[in-house]
Amino acid sequence: MPLQYGLHEMSIAQAVLDAVHIEAGLRPGGRLTRVGLRIGELSGVEPESLRFCLETLVTGTDLDPLAFELELCPWTRCCRPCGAPFRVVDCIPTCPACGSADTEAAGGDQMELSYLELEEP
Ligand SMILES: [Zn+2]
Repeated sequence: MPLQYGLHEMSIAQAVLDAVHIEAGLRPGGRLTRVGLRIGELSGVEPESLRFCLETLVTGTDLDPLAFELELCPWTRCCRPCGAPFRVVDCIPTCPACGSADTEAAGGDQMELSYLELEEP
């Protein structure tokens, strides 16, 4: 099913640009030059594929040229007994500091705008 390829990223890219338009509308006057995105390891988003979709959607619009900075966020959990945040390796959600399995989600499933960079007129 080659037609399915990238559809997920394409709809996410569209949602990202919708959010960018809203944010940019709140700051009139400046020209948007760069957008930062945080992508969690668990979000299922393929960063390079998303970048390609974003650049494709932006080309020829009033946002063009716009640079995208993609920051990958590792899957992290936080230990309840000792409070230590840690990165989950090999899908083992056990605290490396004290060995406890009593942990809670701390990150890795996010997909969000981290910043917008504007050029003052
Ligand atoms: Zn611990």
